[in-house]
Amino acid sequence: MRKPYIAANWKMNLDADAIDEFCAELSEFLLDFDAVRVGVFPPSLYLPQVVRALAGTGAVVGAQSCRPEASGAFTGEIAARMVADVGAKATLIGHSERRQIFGETDADVVARRDAALAEGLDVILCVGETLEEREAGRTNEVVIGQLEAALADLTPDVVRERVTLAYEPVWAIGTGKTATPDQAQEVHASIRARLAEGLGGEVASATIIQYGGSVKPDNVSELMACPDVDGALVGGASLQLESFVALLRGGQPGA
Ligand code: PEP
Repeated sequence: MRKPYIAANWKMNLDADAIDEFCAELSEFLLDFDAVRVGVFPPSLYLPQVVRALAGTGAVVGAQSCRPEASGAFTGEIAARMVADVGAKATLIGHSERRQIFGETDADVVARRDAALAEGLDVILCVGETLEEREAGRTNEVVIGQLEAALADLTPDVVRERVTLAYEPVWAIGTGKTATPDQAQEVHASIRARLAEGLGGEVASATIIQYGGSVKPDNVSELMACPDVDGALVGGASLQLESFVALLRGGQPGA
């Protein structure tokens, strides 16, 4: 049985005061809510603040990206080692905004993944097709290609214990256009089938596959009712506590 996992990707939003308030209220909510695993991925400047504020709640706190190098001349960047050093436990890797705005390639994804895993961080590996690719009938080819690259050379044990996958169709991120449950399920099922083929049935049935792309309180339950959708990676609707809590409630089994 896979425990649902819903993660907030705050991108470059919120400030110290808003984050204090959000974390205090989320901590209180999590005192008696354990049906969903919770993740919070703030801008890296605020990682230590969020790590402290959510300590003991069971929430996973992680970075939105990281450099693979341990240190060096990379102005403006943060190393996987630094993310671990401030007590964060995870990082997103390969988010479409990183791929599209910052030019990250599949090779960059692998380098970041390896550094993050070596530093003891768990990873959420993001894959997803653009609208043009979907319209050209290339969704499966693109998503499975990114998946194969992102998982290359990982052992079944590492994938089962340290890796979460996020299917995020680029055309649905921040656009208000959500994939229908059928569209999401179709891609999630093909990701899980590829996992089974490459890494075995046990890994395939244990691995969490989140859906991301305009998930909101009013569509989270129908998406997560799909048999292969195990969670959500949420941008816009994770920025207000009330909306995030509604997502967590809506994402619990049987909601
Ligand atoms: C995301 O940033 O991963 C995301 C899915 O954003 P949104 O929920 O705003 O579409």
